[in-house]
Amino acid sequence: MATDTAAPPTGYVQPEIDVPELTALLDGRYADVRNLVRTNLAEYASILDEAEDLSIDDFRERVKEVVVEMAATGQTGMGFPEEYGGGGDIGASIAAFETLAYGDLSVLVKVGVQFGLFGGAILQLGTKQHHDAYLSDLITGKLMGCFAMTETGHGSNVQALGTVARYDVDTQEFVITTTTESARKDYIGNAARHAEVAVVFAQLEVGGRSEGVHAFVVPIRDGREPCPGVRIEDDGRKMGLNGVDNGRIWFDEVRVPRTALLNRFADVTPEGVYESAIDNPNRRFFTMLGTLVQGRVCVGGAGINASKVALAIATKYAVRRRQFEATSDEQEELLLDYGMHQRRLLPLIARTYALHFAQEVVALQLHDVFSGHTDDEHTRRELESRAAGTKALGTWHATRTIQECREACGGAGYLSINRFAALKADTDVFTTFEGDNHVLLQLVAKGLLTDYASEFQDLDQLGMVRFVTNLAVETVIERTSVHKMFERVRDLLPGGDSWDQEAGLLDSEYHLAMLRFREEHMLGGVARRLKRGIDQGSNPGEVFSAVQDHVIAAANAHVERLVLEAFVDKVRAQPDGDTKVALGLLCDLFALSTIESDRAWFMEHGRLTVQRSKAISREIGGLCRKVRPLAVDLVDAWAVPPEMLRSPDLVAGPIAPPAT
Ligand SMILES: Cc1cc2nc3c(=O)[nH]c(=O)nc-3n(C[C@H](O)[C@H](O)[C@H](O)COP(=O)(O)OP(=O)(O)OC[C@H]3O[C@@H](n4cnc5c(N)ncnc54)[C@H](O)[C@@H]3O)c2cc1C
Repeated sequence: MATDTAAPPTGYVQPEIDVPELTALLDGRYADVRNLVRTNLAEYASILDEAEDLSIDDFRERVKEVVVEMAATGQTGMGFPEEYGGGGDIGASIAAFETLAYGDLSVLVKVGVQFGLFGGAILQLGTKQHHDAYLSDLITGKLMGCFAMTETGHGSNVQALGTVARYDVDTQEFVITTTTESARKDYIGNAARHAEVAVVFAQLEVGGRSEGVHAFVVPIRDGREPCPGVRIEDDGRKMGLNGVDNGRIWFDEVRVPRTALLNRFADVTPEGVYESAIDNPNRRFFTMLGTLVQGRVCVGGAGINASKVALAIATKYAVRRRQFEATSDEQEELLLDYGMHQRRLLPLIARTYALHFAQEVVALQLHDVFSGHTDDEHTRRELESRAAGTKALGTWHATRTIQECREACGGAGYLSINRFAALKADTDVFTTFEGDNHVLLQLVAKGLLTDYASEFQDLDQLGMVRFVTNLAVETVIERTSVHKMFERVRDLLPGGDSWDQEAGLLDSEYHLAMLRFREEHMLGGVARRLKRGIDQGSNPGEVFSAVQDHVIAAANAHVERLVLEAFVDKVRAQPDGDTKVALGLLCDLFALSTIESDRAWFMEHGRLTVQRSKAISREIGGLCRKVRPLAVDLVDAWAVPPEMLRSPDLVAGPIAPPAT
């Protein structure tokens, strides 16, 4: 229990948090897995110092060593089939990865590259011959590999890659070629130093015909030397993650056997006939990429957990650091007793809890789909959309939270020993890799506008605009009409059509109705704008481009609604007691601060009066005061190993001047 408590508001009974109980709730069904990773992190805690003390070369070697040693504990192979030495549990592998984000993030990303990207591509895109050839060795780290998709010329637009794999029927080989300078592979993790093998994404050409992007296993290094025809260059020092060896790769007519094609979804016969069970090239491409969704789920979870480290440090500091005699002549005030400090940190703690539970939902869906429990086309599309959305919001949250926490620790936050330097530098790129966040939110919007229709897979962006305007627009407009919205909330909230003025500010149904209204209104607005543009005869691409800010806003509103739903569901599922009360406070704080931060929109659209908007801000202040005494317990419940917090002078030891 935290001992520093502000006076509770009158009539309010403050809940007491049982920290181990809350940790158990947060850890969920994979508590054992998370604890194994926590133990490993503590054992390798010196890596946080080594990140600062070693040269880049030495640090890269050290990171590799730690990754391979951690692999020996089984923590990095949990998602692979048991017959190859894996754990056979996809959910467990997500839990392990998320927890690893409490530690050094070069280790995390190296694990992600080796086991998630490289291993994941072999597992998901390959067939038994590839599994037999590579999985056992890659799971132990004996065989290091990389995932070479991005090129200097194209990152987000994977379908436009320039590398070509031409089938040579005479030798029954593929010839891999970097066709132009901008077709060189770039930013590829593990490429500059450690990878012996690459999964290379290239345009497949068979008999002079292009069949689109496919993946091939290509040896790139023999010992320390690049293989013949392969040129590798180091990407050099980066903003962060310098324990990962990112590099560029060029291929000069590199020949690999026909079996190098990862052929789960398409194959080329020895005679040079291209075969695939999926006729439509777009659908085939998106089906292939869809199998790699796990990486996105992992990075989103990692961003959320990195935020926990920052918040744990800043909160612990704020209940020890005193500045100015504000309420007493004898003693300076604790930072966390200042209203502004509460306003800065506590809504971020609430949002972190919200995102944690949303992440739990997406991780479970991933587990169910990829374990074959619920696997149909529609569920897969929904999973991909949710994974994209949670990744975007989770990683943006990390960037924002870590900065706020750094500032909340003042000058001390700037010292490397106190973690924020590495946290900021290493998490920054989470918003870009595994899919740029803005590009991902467009994917989310595309699913919403087409309602994950079967045509969804076949559509490129222009096709999607046409589809929306021709067929789906009426449905979307009808579905999102204000009238329908009112009908849906009428039974749930008092006040009839004035529900938004009458409902209690702390009623979860009110919060949900507000976020649903915003989402549906924004989505309907996008559909109407697209239709208007097309009806006026404008170019579909220009129309889409002109409404893109609305597209992103609608997708963001959709994902925030999903996040709130996940939190509300979690709170409702708890038995009555203090944990439920505490989580309820956080849920209200998350919901109201989300509404508050978009209050201009709600006011513009008639859903918030000036008085009610002010009342919401007052209520947030009240909730912060209630959460304040619980803050330390709330961050302790994340169970970040103390060794990972580092920050010896911020989380322990004397700081506050004694009372005068
Ligand atoms: C440290 C690091 C490690 C990486 N590791 C790997 C790896 O191991 N393997 C690998 O294959 N790749 C890797 N990448 C590459 C990474 O996945 C790409 O950088 C990412 O997909 C973005 O592509 P891009 O850099 O080409 O950006 P771009 O696609 O050029 O995007 C630049 C900006 O343009 C915006 N934009 C793009 N398209 C649109 C659009 N249609 N509408 C509006 N705005 C748009 C984006 O939002 C973004 O802000 C890594 C990158 C880094 C930095």
